[in-house]
Order: sequence, then structure tokens, then C-alpha cells
Amino acid sequence: MELRRLGKTALEVSVIGFGGIPIQKLGREEARRLVGLALDYKINFFDTAQGYGDSEVKIGEGIKGRREECLLATKSPCRSFQQALEDVDAALRKLQVKVIDLYQVHFVNDSETLDQVIRPNGSLQGLKKAKEEGKINHIGITGHNPDVLLRAIRNEDFETVQVPFNIIEDGPDERALLRAAKEQEVGVICMKPLAGGVITEPELSLRWILAQSVSTVIPGMIQPKEVESNAIVGRAPLPLSEKELEKLKKVCHPLEENFCRRCMYCMPCPEGIPIYLIQELGDKVKVPQARELCRDIYARQKVNVEACNECEECEEKCPYHLPIRKMLKEKHDLLTT
Ligand code: SF4
Ligand code: SF4
Repeated sequence: MELRRLGKTALEVSVIGFGGIPIQKLGREEARRLVGLALDYKINFFDTAQGYGDSEVKIGEGIKGRREECLLATKSPCRSFQQALEDVDAALRKLQVKVIDLYQVHFVNDSETLDQVIRPNGSLQGLKKAKEEGKINHIGITGHNPDVLLRAIRNEDFETVQVPFNIIEDGPDERALLRAAKEQEVGVICMKPLAGGVITEPELSLRWILAQSVSTVIPGMIQPKEVESNAIVGRAPLPLSEKELEKLKKVCHPLEENFCRRCMYCMPCPEGIPIYLIQELGDKVKVPQARELCRDIYARQKVNVEACNECEECEEKCPYHLPIRKMLKEKHDLLTT
């Protein structure tokens, strides 16, 4: 597995990291085996979050007895000094470790939130205290808005930045962030390497990303074969040939204006509506061969869109500002008529 330096942290991370969102869907034993397999393949960077259900617990169980082989990154949407300290302590307990290699402020998507984080008594100060106390080794920031993150990394306390980056989500703002990160020795962790499932050539996409100035890319993994195929890419991530680049571009259609990237940040819905699943079924139902299956899966859900109470919680949490309620109603119609 190729290793790269994670910016000024000087940590040597595997170019393929383990994205910790999907593991929530696995049972405890299956999850433990998956994490163990990733370690066997020399994937040493594990990224999880307070907000990813029981992902921290499962990753903690999976690395038990193998702590020396891995670097742990987690995060929370902490905004205040006290919250940061409490979240770090909770993560240490769930991961069952004495120190976390990288703790990130999660989900910083606008300037107001960034101001809350960096102000006196904000979460950045709390994380600096946790670092002084030896509970965390490094501090990072994550978000979906490259402009805001560009501003954030001017603050030299942030040693890493985590951002969606792939051949589709590659514009002037992303490039400016990558340039600044390189100049300032801030480690870049790429999330959403397949743009939420829009890119259907994982190997080519990962290699394209790794040819840019990034430290690691963290595809979500849920099946052993994904761990294996991703890890193989990380052994020798050669840049794409012209022919391969053409092939990758062919499967990358521009994103629809309202495209759900299945990030699950909108979950949980207080009414129990499986929002991201309905988004996915509502897209796939348009494919004639998949229509009946999608409708059948939707019909078997305990709660459907009709239970929506219009609370708007999901829309407040969606980093892409999607009109979720409207989308769900449209998808409900497609799935039931
Ligand atoms: S608006 Fe509807 S779908 Fe969204 S969180 Fe509220 S109840 Fe759930
Ligand atoms: S609706 Fe928004 S928050 Fe929910 S899964 Fe889709 S992109 Fe993510």
C-alpha cells in the first residue's frame, strides 16, 4: 500500500483510507471482520464520525489488538469549547482507545459556522485543549464548501481538510483549496470519490483522484470485495492513460441540479422515513428493468413519505441544500403510481 504524508501532521497514511459511513449497516461481527480485512490489506487510515451511527464503536472493535497498525480519525459537529471536550471523551470511549490520531470539526459548510468554531471559547479552542491533554494528536476540519474550507485553513491550527473531490466535483474552488493546502502543508482527505454513486468506475476514479495533490481518499466500504479492490488500487495508483481518462469521462454525466449524493447527513428523520433510500429508489425506478424491484422495496418500508410532518429538519442538515420534502414527494409518486 502506498503511503503519503498527511500534511504537516507527518502521519504516513495509506492512500486508500477506510470511509466509515457504510459500516453502520453491518452487524457487529461482520463489521469487525471487514475492519480486520482492511488492516490485512494495509489500509491504515480509518475515518469515522460521531454522526455515523455506531461506526465509531464498530471500528473500535475491529481494530482491537491492532491499534499500532492504524491511524484513527473521527469528528463531530462540535461548535463550542465544552462540546468539543465532551465529544472527544465520548469518541475515546466508543473507539476504546487512549488517543485519537486526528479529530476533525465536522460539517463546517458556511462562514457563520466557521466563525463559531474559531471564536474564543469555540470548538477549536476545546480541541487544542484536548490536544494539550494528550487525548488527540492532530486537528482537522471537514465540510462540503471549498470556499469556506479555504478560509478555514488560513488558521494554522487546522492540520488537515476533508472535502468531496472527484472528476465531477472539480472546479476552480476545489482547485484553489488544493493549491492552498499544498502551500500550507495541510493534509487533504478526499471524501465522496464516486460522487454518491454517479461515477461507476471506482478504480479509475480513485486513480484519477490520487494523481492530484491529495494525501488520501476514503471510499466507503461495506463488502470484503470492495476492500480488496480498493486496496489493490492503493498499491500502485498509476495516473490514468488518455484512453482510461476518456472512459472515466464517459461514465460521468454532469450532476442533475438536485442530485442526492446519499451522504445520509439528513438522517435520522424524526418520523423514521428512510430518506436516502427513497432518494436512491426514486432515481433507480426510472430504469425500466429496475422499476418493479424498486417499487417492491418501497412498498415494504415500515414508514413512507406520507408520514412526513414537514418539520424541515432534513433540509437544515443537507449540505447540498436540497429541497428534500419536494423531492421525496416526487419520488413517492414515481414509486407508487
Ligand atoms: S421534513 Fe419530513 S422527511 Fe424531513 S425530517 Fe421532517 S418528517 Fe422527516
Ligand atoms: S438528501 Fe442531502 S443530506 Fe440526505 S442523503 Fe441526499 S444529499 Fe445527503
